[in-house]
Amino acid sequence: MSELFGLMQDVPLTVDRILDHAGTWHGTREIVSRDAHGAVERTDYAGLHRTAKQVSAALAAAGIARGDRVATMAWNGARHLAAWYGATNMGAVLHTLNPRLFPEQIAYIASHAGDRLLLVDPACAPLVGPLLKEAPSIERVIFLCAADQLPATDYPAVAFDDWIAPHAPEFAWGGFDERLACGLCYTSGTTGNPKGVLYSHRSNYLHTLMTLQKDTLSLSQRDSILLVVPMYHANAWGVVYSAPAVGAKLVLPGMKMDGQSIFDQIEQEGVTFSAAVPTVWQGLLQHLRATGQKFSTLERVVIGGSAPPEALIRAFQDDYNVEVIQGWGMTETSPLATLSTATAQVLEQPYDEQVRRKGMQGRLVCGLELKLTDDDGNRLPHDGKTAGRLKIKGPTITSGYFGGEGGDVLDEEGFFDTGDVSTIDASGYMQITDRAKDIVKSGGEWISSIEIENIAVAHDDVAIAAVIGVHHPKWDERPILLVQPAPGATPSRDALLAFLDGKIAKWWMPDDVVVLETIPLGATGKIDKKLLRQQMADYRLPELAA
Ligand code: ADP
Repeated sequence: MSELFGLMQDVPLTVDRILDHAGTWHGTREIVSRDAHGAVERTDYAGLHRTAKQVSAALAAAGIARGDRVATMAWNGARHLAAWYGATNMGAVLHTLNPRLFPEQIAYIASHAGDRLLLVDPACAPLVGPLLKEAPSIERVIFLCAADQLPATDYPAVAFDDWIAPHAPEFAWGGFDERLACGLCYTSGTTGNPKGVLYSHRSNYLHTLMTLQKDTLSLSQRDSILLVVPMYHANAWGVVYSAPAVGAKLVLPGMKMDGQSIFDQIEQEGVTFSAAVPTVWQGLLQHLRATGQKFSTLERVVIGGSAPPEALIRAFQDDYNVEVIQGWGMTETSPLATLSTATAQVLEQPYDEQVRRKGMQGRLVCGLELKLTDDDGNRLPHDGKTAGRLKIKGPTITSGYFGGEGGDVLDEEGFFDTGDVSTIDASGYMQITDRAKDIVKSGGEWISSIEIENIAVAHDDVAIAAVIGVHHPKWDERPILLVQPAPGATPSRDALLAFLDGKIAKWWMPDDVVVLETIPLGATGKIDKKLLRQQMADYRLPELAA
């Protein structure tokens, strides 16, 4: 018996449709970008649409065909966005390079990807010469700038505006299979070499629809979005697609991430929504406290990439009247997968309980599946207590890495192991207790470094807190607390231990507190525990050193 198929049009879900929609139906909605010097340029979706068409034509003239990798290494800006859509919409693969990585890592990634063209921010110019020597696949360098901003180089390079100028904005987009590769983004590879996540048009299109729901990012044409999360960090959490999809005003801040710059842009551009990692928000908050400034338009912020401490959530909501939504995801999950938006039942609870829920990583977006397992792959209960390996499945989740790196990454049920350890409770709230490789294992039991850090960072003397495990002859590992002082503060060991006392189990109490001038942050603004562990390699627990 033959199947009965639906009679709806089989239109491929390709991302060129998103920009076509924005250019046609939200053509006059503004895109504001700021370069490394603070100069502001304004365009709109119709302008972006035209420029992206010129980019496609210029890429085709340079011999770029479907499936070829086109790299960008740039801060958030309108030319970067035009390069992005110019590549994806003609079937090439947009590969975002993270300029904050070590030069050797960037070279490894560009070579592994086989990038043919590099479109680069003038602010990243010092990285390019050495990169070209290490990554011979790069045939051509285009600086994302006007002709008069082209940096002097000892290799051939052209300014973006000159490069696209000869081309009419008439390139025909799309017309290919929705499963075609669209974007490539490498994870920072805390173990082993970085690995490439290869998004398809279909996965990005579906992720866009997922992020627009009211319980996820709830974006609309009325929003003015400050895109702080970098475009090289997992599709800027999808906002690169979802902002044009709804025709929201888009504010692209360039490389200036300090509190004053971010605050100024929020106020000047009537920003209602923004997204970034906790460290950026902490910087902004410190600035607001120091200056006494308040937001006049900002309504909601998404915080993700690492767990926001409760103190941060409370400060935004209580002191500045800005709603916090926590998001969890990873490069491999496009990235958004769970969000902490309150349910109807949570809103009936006392405010403290609502805040506690905001501090969890949240509930699953429709279309995905989650499970918890033990190390042998057996499913664990969703009782809010049992911690296990978090695994995920769905059309926006990777099925393997570019070039087959890392081998087969799915289990027998088709789930991807996130490398996170978490609980899920009966109402579906997921809470990360650690990354599997950061967990402190003391006497065979797991201690959640994240939970201790979140409590410690609420102390007034602490700017950043990190817990790592150090070797102990009896317990295998014991936790120690490392803190970066708040400006002007001198945190004391005893005061911090007293602060933790009663808030965590006795055997979770750190064996020591070490004050560090700075706690290193990785390329995506998260605490770099790998580096921190290296820095602390010679550290001995006081009881053992004696
Ligand atoms: P990397 O940090 O390796 O550069 P990703 O950006 O893909 O790459 O990071 C994904 C990881 O970040 C997740 O597996 C998780 O450990 C952590 N993460 C992301 N969002 C959150 C969150 N809201 N709370 C806690 N951890 C988070």
